[in-house]
Amino acid sequence: MSSGKKCLVGKVALVTGSTSGIGLGIARCLGEQGADLMLNGFGESGAIETLRAGLAEALEVRVDYDGADLSQPSQIAGLVQRTQAVLGGLDILVNNAGIQYTADIKDFPAERWDAVIAINLSAAFHAMQAAIPGMTSKGWGRIVNIASAHGLVGSAQKSAYVAAKHGLIGLTKVGAIELANTGVTVNAICPGWVLTPLVQAQLDARAEREGLDIEAVKHALLTEKQPMAQFTTPEGIGGLVIFLCSDAARTVTGAPLSIDGGWVAT
Ligand code: NAD
Repeated sequence: MSSGKKCLVGKVALVTGSTSGIGLGIARCLGEQGADLMLNGFGESGAIETLRAGLAEALEVRVDYDGADLSQPSQIAGLVQRTQAVLGGLDILVNNAGIQYTADIKDFPAERWDAVIAINLSAAFHAMQAAIPGMTSKGWGRIVNIASAHGLVGSAQKSAYVAAKHGLIGLTKVGAIELANTGVTVNAICPGWVLTPLVQAQLDARAEREGLDIEAVKHALLTEKQPMAQFTTPEGIGGLVIFLCSDAARTVTGAPLSIDGGWVAT
């Protein structure tokens, strides 16, 4: 995707949860293709400003940041409005922000369930609701929901996450059907393991619990789920987003697209 003409010049992309991990990788790929960017996510304000200014300079696109808390519907509407006001529209919406919490159902704190569902599922609904009118009035739009292999299969101790990600794929299908003849596509990407802060926290906890070194835990984590003993990269997921934004992908809609080292093939 790096050679040739930039394919997203003149488009505006909002990537939620793009101060870190997969979202940041996707934002970088979209910016490399010429899209102006609205970043979102938590972090230390100085570090975020350094990130924002660095991306704008390196990619030669406009980059803005909004720290909306995606557990709050009114802040999500504000995030979409700010994108449209500051960057002149919203063509590509990537619903990526997500959190994890692990515990057996019997021990799962209700407030953690509510937070995981709010950020990993309801936020995508609220963002889509706010973004769709602008996209349909232009006759072009791309909505990409970052689900997970856990949108297609379950794992113990991840009830809220698995429920939210399955729900996100359902929301994707409904959006695709409703928008089928509007020029707007809606798809879900289902990554396997990606080595980001979200997964590093799980690795660290397991290394401590099992008294293993990190390399041994990485190998165990990968191979107990994926035939391929490799992490997927944020750039790989970004490449898939760029494909979904291309004209070649104009009839790809409502699809859960796996990029997971064969996880759901087993
Ligand atoms: P991460 O923790 O590195 O990044 C999450 C991002 O979301 C950060 O920018 C964070 O600030 C932001 N965020 C969290 N809560 C927020 C809130 N309330 N409001 C606004 N922003 C918020 O995680 P990641 O691994 O990059 O995960 C990104 C997405 O990919 C998530 O939806 C996750 O479920 C999904 N995913 C990750 C993996 C993996 O192996 N890492 C696999 C499959 C799917």
